[in-house]
Amino acid sequence: MASDLVIVYHRQPYEEVEIDGKTVLRENKSPNGIVPTLKSFFGSVDHGAWVAWKLADDPSNPDFERVIEIDDVYGTYSVSRLPLSADQVKEFYHVTSKEAFWPILHSFKEYYNYDPVDWSNFREVNWAFAEAAAAEAAHGALVWVHDYNLWLVPGYLRKLRPDVRIAFFHHTPFPSADTFNVLPWRKEIVESLLACDDVGFHIPRYAANFVSVARSLFDIDQVERVRVPEQWISEGTALTERAMPTRIAHKGHNISISVTPVGVDVDYIDSNARSETTEQQAQAIREELGDSKLILSVGRTDYTKGSIEQLRSFERILEANPDLLGKVRLLHVSVSANRNMAVYETVQNEIEQIAGRINGRFGQFDWHPITLVSRAIPFTELVAYYRAADVCWITPLADGMNLVCKEFVASRIDGDGVLVLSEFAGAAVELNQAVMTSPFSHKAMDRGILSALEMPEKERRIRMEGLREAVAGNSVQNWTPGRLSIQKQDVAPAA
Ligand code: UDP
Repeated sequence: MASDLVIVYHRQPYEEVEIDGKTVLRENKSPNGIVPTLKSFFGSVDHGAWVAWKLADDPSNPDFERVIEIDDVYGTYSVSRLPLSADQVKEFYHVTSKEAFWPILHSFKEYYNYDPVDWSNFREVNWAFAEAAAAEAAHGALVWVHDYNLWLVPGYLRKLRPDVRIAFFHHTPFPSADTFNVLPWRKEIVESLLACDDVGFHIPRYAANFVSVARSLFDIDQVERVRVPEQWISEGTALTERAMPTRIAHKGHNISISVTPVGVDVDYIDSNARSETTEQQAQAIREELGDSKLILSVGRTDYTKGSIEQLRSFERILEANPDLLGKVRLLHVSVSANRNMAVYETVQNEIEQIAGRINGRFGQFDWHPITLVSRAIPFTELVAYYRAADVCWITPLADGMNLVCKEFVASRIDGDGVLVLSEFAGAAVELNQAVMTSPFSHKAMDRGILSALEMPEKERRIRMEGLREAVAGNSVQNWTPGRLSIQKQDVAPAA
């Protein structure tokens, strides 16, 4: 059945589990995260569709149904599963996307790895996604494509289906032209994005960077530019912009440029934080801590996340402040990527090595400065740590948004707790009441965490109130596909 809303996202919208030799589809364990957020949009249309890949031994003859129908609490929708071989997935996702695009998007030219990229495979996979989306979309439907691993989909789709409206959202940062143009496929990628009706980003800086990249490669007319909303302008953050593009034109085609920072599910987190189980877990954590303060750091193992810089800062402050020994503990959760990629393994090893050294240098029989956790903590349990922590310490070198810091704030129903946040996380633009820090400066890192530990309760509460207002004011339910309406009767304003 043709769909008014087609979501193109590389992962399937559920978990597949084997029960008694049969594949069963199961709802994602936690209703928190991007997949349930995207699925919730199906509630606004009669019928939706989702396009994702699924591993097949022989993609030309997959041992599963290509398209299945789902009717669940989110709505009625088809899931179109593209059969891809293990090699295709490796080339398109782990090599081209993660080794070539990811470092460039995060401005780490030194990690950019061009040599192993199989560009024709990337094109083929993106073409297959575009064909699958074209097969599902009703006339005038909205096709909402997500993230850089599907960069070529809009261009192909426009050729296949000139009638559909195409929105593309970047979940990552978008770098300046100096960095982006390292990619030899820059023109092909940007030309594809210019086939969209709406290109979306988390913050004004990424939108401005995209437009300057597009202008470096094509003759672009910048049709509209507006002042950034006052609440996103702050002196303290490196990512602040004062004006942002809202519309450009290329070869007579208008493209709206949207800034829609993704939020968290404030109500869901709030009810979790207030539950009796969480209350008891948080209490148990506090009892275990005694009169020590808890610093919490949560992220994935990735060179962009600043774990190493953070652990080094922790080592310096313990060295310089012996009064902190026995009085502070860092719970450092860095979820190991398990991608079989050397670069992630190096980061993981270094994290383990530094954490081990710190515990060895400063630990006592009954006190360890660091607890390192490399596996994912279930979200509901994480909320108990968010509630129990004195400080949440989030210091990425680059991060499209960072949801952990927003989740911490949404969990602080007590109105207390301090957020120390890197000014290079997209979230810093909205969360200007955090203690801002720079992972590129030893002084800023050490001062940031020390000031958080020493902060008087009154200031903590004033800052947390501002943070909670910002997070509550942008709950994920308010997120939109840029300026395009999900309802098909509304014609795209950009057309
Ligand atoms: N997360 C989790 N358990 C963990 C660590 C992280 O459930 O042990 C979740 C966290 O709650 C957040 C997501 O993983 O929703 C990480 O999102 P974020 O935007 O901060 O970083 P990303 O990994 O997308 O770069």
